Amino acid sequence: MQTANKDDDAGRLVLAEDIEDALTHLERGGSSAVVLAGGTWVMRGPVRGENDDKNFVSLARIKPLHQLDLSDEALTIGSMITHDTLAKFIQDIPHLKCLAQAASNSANPAIRRAATVGGNISTRDFLQPILCRHFCASKP
Ligand SMILES: Cc1cc2nc3c(=O)[nH]c(=O)nc-3n(C[C@H](O)[C@H](O)[C@H](O)COP(=O)(O)OP(=O)(O)OC[C@H]3O[C@@H](n4cnc5c(N)ncnc54)[C@H](O)[C@@H]3O)c2cc1C
Repeated sequence: MQTANKDDDAGRLVLAEDIEDALTHLERGGSSAVVLAGGTWVMRGPVRGENDDKNFVSLARIKPLHQLDLSDEALTIGSMITHDTLAKFIQDIPHLKCLAQAASNSANPAIRRAATVGGNISTRDFLQPILCRHFCASKP
């Protein structure tokens, strides 16, 4: 596994194996460590004058974060589920129509295939991420 140290590894990518591993690298990296999910917002960091001195801790290998499950009581969406995957999974469920619409219309097709729900919620530039807003609106 690659490692990132606080002072001298700017630009390194760590592929965390599990949540504990991710937290260890984030804590070790301090303010220079950034979570990487789908990368659609992070990759635009340089355009915004951000991220050129950061290390990235990818969540891609953490299997529980890719969980997507529907029961009678709950829809469980792992933070690494993409907008596209979510939209297809719930497209035929009447009471989740608003969320399906939001997930299938955000950004553009390429972004939807990469952008994750966790990334959407965590992107601080958006005060009301589109999925949150529509999810709240679709609650019974
Ligand atoms: C062309 C374009 C159009 C867009 N249009 C819309 C739109 O209409 N509506 C809208 O709401 N958004 C829009 N976005 C923003 C888009 O929703 C985000 O880019 C995307 O959801 C981020 O997800 P990601 O997985 O790519 O995250 P990344 O780019 O990987 O990360 C984004 C941020 O979230 C943090 N992060 C990611 N996952 C986690 C996690 N699990 N825990 C903690 N922090 C985490 C990262 O550190 C980073 O700060 C658009 C983006 C683009 C590029």
